[in-house]
Amino acid sequence: MKPDLFQAPDYYLLDDLLTEEHKLVRDSARAWVKKEVSPIIEEYAQRAEFPHQIVKGLGEIGGFGPYIPVEYGGAGLDQISYGLIMQEIERGDSGVRSTSSVQSSLVMYPIWKYGNEEQRMKYLPKLATGEMIGCFGLTEPDFGSNPGGMVTNFKDKGDHYLLNGAKMWISNAPFADIAVVWAKDESGRIHGLIVERGMEGFTTPETHNKWSLRASATGELIFDNVKVPKDNLLPNKSGLGAPLGCLDSARYGIAWGAIGAAMDCYDTALRYSKERIQFDKPIGAFQLQQKKLAEMITEITKAQLLTWRLGVLRNEGKATSAQISMAKRNNVDMALTIARDARQMLGGMGITGEYSIMRHMMNLESVVTYEGTHDIHLLITGMDVTGFAAFK
Ligand SMILES: Cc1cc2nc3c(=O)[nH]c(=O)nc-3n(C[C@H](O)[C@H](O)[C@H](O)COP(=O)(O)OP(=O)(O)OC[C@H]3O[C@@H](n4cnc5c(N)ncnc54)[C@H](O)[C@@H]3O)c2cc1C
Repeated sequence: MKPDLFQAPDYYLLDDLLTEEHKLVRDSARAWVKKEVSPIIEEYAQRAEFPHQIVKGLGEIGGFGPYIPVEYGGAGLDQISYGLIMQEIERGDSGVRSTSSVQSSLVMYPIWKYGNEEQRMKYLPKLATGEMIGCFGLTEPDFGSNPGGMVTNFKDKGDHYLLNGAKMWISNAPFADIAVVWAKDESGRIHGLIVERGMEGFTTPETHNKWSLRASATGELIFDNVKVPKDNLLPNKSGLGAPLGCLDSARYGIAWGAIGAAMDCYDTALRYSKERIQFDKPIGAFQLQQKKLAEMITEITKAQLLTWRLGVLRNEGKATSAQISMAKRNNVDMALTIARDARQMLGGMGITGEYSIMRHMMNLESVVTYEGTHDIHLLITGMDVTGFAAFK
């Protein structure tokens, strides 16, 4: 793979909107990605393997629980810093960002928000350093966009719960130490349970042959009469709103992350367009290639502004789920379009692992589907502005 020469585009001088702390956090994540992720990620993606050696470093740059309070081992940062970390990690690879997002927003967040003090102290510090890795089980074979229909369930057996069911498409599942699992009680109400590796009847087979997020491990969670201690139920929130609250936090991070992938594709294509000579000119001197680059930087700039504003609203506790949906949907679609155009700009070289573009493009095909598909987020916006739900 080519050396990482990335230079971040900032067409509207948005750095002026950031604090010194934001820039420090962003720059250290950026430097870490250049040093630890860029040199190895192509090889791991080609082998369809997660690079376990980066886990410790991810913890050190605040990639696990950036906004979780320091007393629980988190970095205690604000929402803009959280977003900037996700942007930088996904600039390296969406699969690495997925590991970070799942650990932060889908495992640490529910334990922090919905768990009790013992659960927080038991799990959060280890999750923050990466000593422990978690996964989040919501999606099932027959319930993806409609998770409320889930059939995974648990029964009260007096001194423990008995958990049965299956989850699929679960990031980090094959090597996770714990899983935050969403299941229905006997009355049909959804609760979160912490299931630990080693519990009898709990298995996590890996999903193979993915063409996307190849450097992220994906698998199933199978529960066959798993005895879960009662202490492992998250007591402070139940109902579908509980997992959806986690998704809000993760989707917000994805909105930033997608900008990172888009910036990397744009920057690569821009550099290539100045170096690649055809018909005695750099291809960047042709109008057709300039149109692509001009549209890319316009869309990146719009997404940067949208997402920065969303971060301000999140810091003020004012961001709505629908606003987060809009940013996730817009930014991932923007990044996918840019990746496809950038791939074309590199001609044949664009399909090789010499450059990051094709990997980003394939990764984004998962990002546009998980955490609510492109269509589902449109329906959320449609419902928000009209008042009519068009899901059913
Ligand atoms: C690599 C990867 C990692 C993942 N990681 C996790 C994870 O860690 N944890 C987890 O719980 N899940 C995870 N997921 C699952 C992901 O969230 C689901 O794939 C996603 O929610 C879509 O569900 P589905 O695949 O069942 O598609 P479906 O829900 O079957 O949707 C299929 C198509 O129908 C459309 N559709 C569905 N309903 C409607 C409707 N009402 N109106 C119009 N169109 C509709 C969808 O937009 C989509 O285009 C992951 C998925 C992938 C690919």
